[in-house]
Amino acid sequence: MTTFSYDFKTPAYTGKVDFPTGVFIDGEFKEGGDKTTIDVINPTTGKLITTVSEATTADVDIAVKAAQKAFDTTWGLNASGARRAELLWKLGLLMDDHMEELCALEALDNGKTFGWAKNVDVAFAIQSIKYYAGWADKIQGKVIETDESKLTYTRHEPIGVVGQIIPWNFPLLMMAWKLGPALATGCTIVLKPSEFTPLTALRMCSLIREAGFPPGVVNILVGYGHTVGAAMSSHMDIHKLAFTGSTLVGRKIMESAAKSNLKTVTLELGGKSPNIIFDDADLEQAANWAAHGIFWNHGQACCAGSRIFVQSGIYDKFLAAFAEKTRSIKVGDPFGDDVDQGPQVSQQQFDRIMGYIDSGKQEGATVHVGGKRVGEAGYFIEPTIFTDVTPEMTIVREEIFGPVGVVIKFTDEEDVIRQANDTVYGLAAAVFTQDINRALETAHKLQAGTAWINCVNQLHAQVPFGGFKQSGIGRELGEYALENYTNIKAVHVNLRHRM
Ligand code: NAD
Repeated sequence: MTTFSYDFKTPAYTGKVDFPTGVFIDGEFKEGGDKTTIDVINPTTGKLITTVSEATTADVDIAVKAAQKAFDTTWGLNASGARRAELLWKLGLLMDDHMEELCALEALDNGKTFGWAKNVDVAFAIQSIKYYAGWADKIQGKVIETDESKLTYTRHEPIGVVGQIIPWNFPLLMMAWKLGPALATGCTIVLKPSEFTPLTALRMCSLIREAGFPPGVVNILVGYGHTVGAAMSSHMDIHKLAFTGSTLVGRKIMESAAKSNLKTVTLELGGKSPNIIFDDADLEQAANWAAHGIFWNHGQACCAGSRIFVQSGIYDKFLAAFAEKTRSIKVGDPFGDDVDQGPQVSQQQFDRIMGYIDSGKQEGATVHVGGKRVGEAGYFIEPTIFTDVTPEMTIVREEIFGPVGVVIKFTDEEDVIRQANDTVYGLAAAVFTQDINRALETAHKLQAGTAWINCVNQLHAQVPFGGFKQSGIGRELGEYALENYTNIKAVHVNLRHRM
């Protein structure tokens, strides 16, 4: 069985990590069914960090059985809400204790900066786990008045064994968003991290065990999408599947669910979010937020504000300010001082993004800033702005998932809303203006699950997040996410015992 030992000696973090990286089933680490491994690559260098045990489809069956046993004996309706809350809270505290180590693993494995991991990913992951600890003893139905001869009420019962499949862009955070509501409601879990970024999920296994969760409540299988992910989606004994990832894979998952046991599916998928800047916006603020919107997490964010619409009266000044801000972004070693942007996650993503940059050039757009690789080793790309784009260009229509934004000039208010909504996606949108009526009217007309006014990329554990159209189905976070993990049962009691 594989383990990972590493001595961090970086400006941001010094310390040793040492933990098992096997397949985590029924509270134990073991080798995968075929005794094979997956290479984990450092995106900063392109070199191997370690290998971790590869789970197989046979492991999915074993994990589902362990999860079902836990649901029937130690979790589900057998663990009180208070108990579930206590363990979730303990897990949050353990994550606090290991915060720096989790940040270092995230920076090493994913390439995001240590500072970013600390302020955003890991901090938010801990908040999310603690937030759902607070919900665990408040999962309740309603008494519904019918007539005096009856008592009728609802129970929100845990669904049972659920599957969760997560991506590589916010590895620990996506895990926390999924574990929190599932554990709070009493479900047991088989979770598959991305094969590109398994390290924080594997580190979490030991913390989950230490927090005291009974064996089998959480099972973590690092495996490939076409094997483990596909087996989970079509499994007859997984009753709900929560997925975050690409729209392409989301479609496959829904199809597998339909063809197997009609499990319920929630999907958090891609985006091509519009960011609309009106003439009356605070120019400096709008430029800073727009840069944050697209270059956040190296552009590897589903809600990235990748289409920036700027009204003609402010266009030249905005572009100058936005370009200056973009050029000031420091790209480099994720553990380095003052670095804003590390490498893209993988060779595959690097190639994909460079391919989009080439397509933009070939289709006639102008590279206003960036457009090139940074350095020779690793997967670094300059923050890039395209201008002179037209609506049919590939870089305007497709999700790039990298540090590449397009700036589009507009004049008419109604027309910009039409253009903003002219996409298959509907995850998020932003509007910048100092006119409150215009701000609210625009926010309401935009077809997106989240609308930001004079800000972007604001997310909170309490606030639902998810997409319209092909950006997804269902909501994560907040009270809304609890609905994904419970079945509602209506109980009718006849008080008078007469037909
Ligand atoms: P991806 O869809 O390739 O992979 C996501 C996960 O699905 C991985 O764990 C992968 O192994 C698994 N997978 C791949 N093929 C599968 C299959 N056939 N069956 C089951 N599982 C399979 O996405 P990615 O490249 O890891 O992540 C990037 C995408 O995720 C982007 O499109 C982005 O917009 C989206 N995303 C969305 C959100 C959101 O909240 N809406 C958040 C993060 C990422």
